Amino acid sequence: MKDIVCKLLVIGAGPGGYVCAIRAGQLGVDTVIVEKARAGGTCLTIGCIPSKALIHAADEFLKARHFADGTDPLGISLASPAIDLKKTVAWKDRIVGRLTMGVSGLLKKAGVKTVQGTARFRDGKTVVVETETGEQIIRAETIVIATGSAPVELPFLPFGGPVISSTEALSLPTVPETLAVVGGGYIGLELGTAFAKLGSKVTVVEAMPRVLPQWDAELTRPVVKRLEALGVTVLAGTKARGLVASAGALAIERANGTEERIDAEKVLVTVGRRPVVEDWGLEEIDLDRDGRFIRIDDQCRTSMRGIYAIGDVTGEPMLAHRAMAQGEMVAEIVAGKTRGWDKRAIPAVCFTDPEIVSVGLSPDEARKSGREIRIGQFPFTASGRAMTVRGEDGFVRVVARADDNVVLGIQAVGTGVSELSSAFSLAIEMGARLEDISGTIHAHPTMSEGFAEAALKALGHAIHI
Ligand code: FAD
Ligand code: NAD
Repeated sequence: MKDIVCKLLVIGAGPGGYVCAIRAGQLGVDTVIVEKARAGGTCLTIGCIPSKALIHAADEFLKARHFADGTDPLGISLASPAIDLKKTVAWKDRIVGRLTMGVSGLLKKAGVKTVQGTARFRDGKTVVVETETGEQIIRAETIVIATGSAPVELPFLPFGGPVISSTEALSLPTVPETLAVVGGGYIGLELGTAFAKLGSKVTVVEAMPRVLPQWDAELTRPVVKRLEALGVTVLAGTKARGLVASAGALAIERANGTEERIDAEKVLVTVGRRPVVEDWGLEEIDLDRDGRFIRIDDQCRTSMRGIYAIGDVTGEPMLAHRAMAQGEMVAEIVAGKTRGWDKRAIPAVCFTDPEIVSVGLSPDEARKSGREIRIGQFPFTASGRAMTVRGEDGFVRVVARADDNVVLGIQAVGTGVSELSSAFSLAIEMGARLEDISGTIHAHPTMSEGFAEAALKALGHAIHI
C-alpha cells in the first residue's frame, strides 16, 4: 500500500478527533483521520446519544404505565402498556446510524481523508494502520491523539456474562428483572433510573457515603428522592464483593461490615472510565503522563514536539464538549492561529431524574477559594411553568462574589434543566454580574425565569419568593 503523507493525522474519530479533523480541513490543513470502530466514537455510538435515547424511551414508558395504573393526575387513561426493548434498541441504533453517517459526511465535506483501521505509532512522525486490506503507513508533520476512554473493570467483577458495562446495557434485548448497578455516578444513575422506569428492580451499590458524590448534597437531594419514589434501592457506603453466579446475585459488604447478597440478573459496573493508552504504541514515543492520562499543556501539546492529545485520554472532566472544544482549538493552532485554553468553565450535566447542571464554582468551592460570596436560590415550587410540567422539585442556585457581584458558579436541579446549561455557561464565560442576569428579560412561563429570580434573590430583592 502506498504511504500517505499529510500535514495532520488525527487518531480516533470521537468528538475530540472528528471536530479537530473537520476544523483543520475547513482551514485548508491536509488532514487524515484514523478510526478503528465507528466515526463519532464513544459519545455517538455507545455513550451520550444512545444513553439519552434509552432515557427518553424509559420516560415515555413510565408515563404510559402511570396512565394505565390510574396514578396519573392528568386524566389520561390507557390499557396495559408494554415495551419491546429490541424495538427500542433498534430505534436508538437508527439514531446512532444517522449521526455516524453525518459525521463521516462532514469529514468528507471538509476534505478530510478517513482511514478505517487501528493506528499504532512507529515513531513520533509515523503511524502504521492495521486495515482490513493490510498495513497502511501514514507520515505526518503533526499528530493528534484522541483515543478516548474505556470502562474501568473491577478485578473481582470482570465484564462478561451477567456482568456488563454501559455498552452492553445500551443494547440489551430484554429488560432485566433485577439489576445491580455498581457505582452511583453519572452512568450508574442515568442508566439505573432508566431501567427502573422500564420495570427492572434496581439496586445501586455506591462505595462513597452518598451517590453522585462529585456534587453537593443539596443539589443531588431531589434525585435521591426520585430514586426512592421509583423504587430504586440505594446502598451507599457499600462495596461490591463479587458475583454469586449460581444464585443470580451480587455479594456486597455494607458500611458496618455485614455481608449480604442482592438479586441481580445483570450487574452493571459503572465505576468510572480510564484513558485508552494501550495498543497504539505509547511506548514508542514515551510521552509524559499525568497519572493514567497523557499530560498536556494549555494548548494540548504533549511532551513530544508535534504531538498533541485531546479528549478523555487527557483527563477529567471526561466530557464530550470538553473534547470538542480541545479539538477545535488544536486544529486552529495547527493551522497557524494563536490559541490557548482560556475557558472559564466546562458545564456538567447529569441526565438523571430530575436533571442536574453545574457550571463554575459551587458555594463550597467558592468559599474555599477564600472569597466572600453571596448566594441566591430560587425553588421551582414557586415557578408556574414548573407546576405545569410537574417539575416543582428542584431549584436554580447562583453563586457570586460579594464585592462586585460577578457570577462564579451556577447550579440547577430540575425537570429539563439541561437546556438551561448554555445560558449558565454564557453568563460565566462573559463574566456576567448578578445585575446582568436579573436585568435580562427571561421569557414567561419558562423554567429559565428561575435563573433571573435566583440572581435577584442574591441581590436581596427576589419578586416571586
Ligand atoms: P471517544 O469518544 O472515546 O473516541 C475515541 C475514538 O478513538 C473511538 O472511536 C475509538 O474507536 C478510537 N480509537 C482508539 N484507539 C484507536 C486506535 N489505536 N486507532 C484508531 N482509532 C482508535 N459526555 C457528555 O459530555 N455528555 C453525556 O451525556 C455523556 N454521556 C455518556 C454516556 C455514556 C454511557 C458514556 C460511556 C460516556 C458518556 N459521556 C458523556 C462521555 C463522552 O462519551 C466522552 O467524554 C467522549 O466520547 C470523549 O470523546 P473522545 O473523542 O475523547 O473519545
Ligand atoms: P463516575 O466517576 O461518574 O462514577 C463512578 C462512581 O462509582 C463514583 O460515584 C464512585 O464513588 C463509585 N465507585 C468507584 N469504585 C467503586 C466500587 N468499587 N464500588 C462501588 N462504587 C464505586 O463514572 P461513570 O458513571 O462510570 O462515568 C464515567 C465518566 O463518563 C463520567 O465521569 C463522565 O465523565 C462521563 N459521563 C458523562 C455523562 C454526562 O455528561 N451526562 C454521562 C455518563 C458518563
